[in-house]
Amino acid sequence: MLATNVFLKILAKDIPVRVAHEDDLCLAFHDAHPQAPVHVLILPKRVIRTHADLVPADAALIGHLNLVAVELAKELGLTAGYRVVVNCDDAGGQTVPHLHLHLLGGRPFDWPPG
Ligand code: 5GP
Repeated sequence: MLATNVFLKILAKDIPVRVAHEDDLCLAFHDAHPQAPVHVLILPKRVIRTHADLVPADAALIGHLNLVAVELAKELGLTAGYRVVVNCDDAGGQTVPHLHLHLLGGRPFDWPPG
């Protein structure tokens, strides 16, 4: 695989990560710069650049990513609640051009977000 961004390199196993979950559709791993005691990234193995590129045919996949977030929140003990974030494009704060969910927990979160 020609790995052209950091997540493609991670999916190609060229960069080691602490894996939280893997299946045929997605990989979840702990963020290198955690913003909370639990900070896991959940990304599809198939390349989708950003949230705004989702189409109806992706409904099952995006549902699956969310259900993996639910399972990981349970496994990682986030019983008090958690936050799921998707940053989309520049104004949304996205830095890696491969769709991913952030699962954050282990501390309270403010609203509105920064
Ligand atoms: P974004 O800003 O695109 O929503 O999120 C990208 C996330 O990927 C950031 O939270 C950043 O810390 C994380 N990240 C970037 N490079 C690496 C890496 O090489 N390993 C891991 N585990 N996380 C990374």
